[in-house]
Amino acid sequence: MSHVDKALGFVRPAVRKMDGYVPGLQPKPGQHLVKLNTNENPFPPSPRVLAALRDATEGTMRLYPSPAADALRERAAALYGIGPSQVLCGNGSDEILSMLMRTFVNERDAIAYFSPSYSLYPVLASLANARTAAIPLPRPDKDADMAGLAVPSPKARIFFLSSPNSPYGVGFPTAWVARLLERFSGIVVADEAYVDFAAESSLPLLAGSPRLIVVRTLSKAYSLAGMRVGFAFAHDAIIREMMKTKDSYNVSGLAQVAACAALDDQGYFRKTRDAILDTRTRFTASLVERGFRVLPSRANFIFAVPPAGIEAGRLYEGLLGRGFLVRHWKTGPVSDGLRISIGADSDMDALLGAIGEECHGSQ
Ligand code: PMP
Repeated sequence: MSHVDKALGFVRPAVRKMDGYVPGLQPKPGQHLVKLNTNENPFPPSPRVLAALRDATEGTMRLYPSPAADALRERAAALYGIGPSQVLCGNGSDEILSMLMRTFVNERDAIAYFSPSYSLYPVLASLANARTAAIPLPRPDKDADMAGLAVPSPKARIFFLSSPNSPYGVGFPTAWVARLLERFSGIVVADEAYVDFAAESSLPLLAGSPRLIVVRTLSKAYSLAGMRVGFAFAHDAIIREMMKTKDSYNVSGLAQVAACAALDDQGYFRKTRDAILDTRTRFTASLVERGFRVLPSRANFIFAVPPAGIEAGRLYEGLLGRGFLVRHWKTGPVSDGLRISIGADSDMDALLGAIGEECHGSQ
């Protein structure tokens, strides 16, 4: 046995046998691609964020940051109409999802989620040596299909509900989540990464439901994906328990400064969010005109199935060759479509041109 094999023998079997999470492709240094594959925001963060970062004192970097990000908790609580003790800040909402696993899930417990949804959930389950209950999510044609969706009641500790769903983009009505809380007896995590682009949130259910945890991020609607800031909103007793599972100083000082400034500028948030919603409407209509089937999106991306005769995987490759990076899954229930982030108007126009040329070429 080599020295390396000996060392590897100490790795936890659960880790040894799992595949890690595969993030969306990142351009290589120097490679120029129009990046529409990980639902980033085409707008820069609010100018107030940049000003706050410039004004941050040396103490922001030299000293440890506030362990619980107290100023940020207060800002978020005021904005969302809850108490600061109901807010937990994370290094992105991905870290919040990890904390949820550490707080609620023992080895061999099960977690449930819809399939398709966020592909990190099964990875977190593998890491925790937990089981998974993946419930098939029928592909909806219209918002009304979501209201009529059967409410599942799997045996699991947590139901991770990506709402709006990724990659389909459809949202779950608040009344549907209320029914889920009635039927499912475990913890319901409403993973609302994209909710700022949607009409409904589960937040109003929080007051009456200590089993509900709402997860948010500043990566999408607030243009702060690189800063890594996410939240959990829940009953304060639940937040107190989750707090024990976090790294001591999990949100960096600069990230706390940037996040406070971003939340403070609601005018900029609304303006950029509305521009993205307009582009979403326009881009969707243009794809439908070209024969694509586009699911009703409540997010800053759309899921589109190309017209008959055009294979999604080939279209993905063709677009990549033309400098456009979108998301395609080679296998599984979504392999027939592409998930396309809503970027700047000019990029979406250029993408439409490229799609037109690709589709024309393959017919
Ligand atoms: N939840 C969902 C459904 C997502 O798509 C993402 C982004 N990949 C996240 C959570 C995590 O986002 P972040 O860690 O940037 O807050």
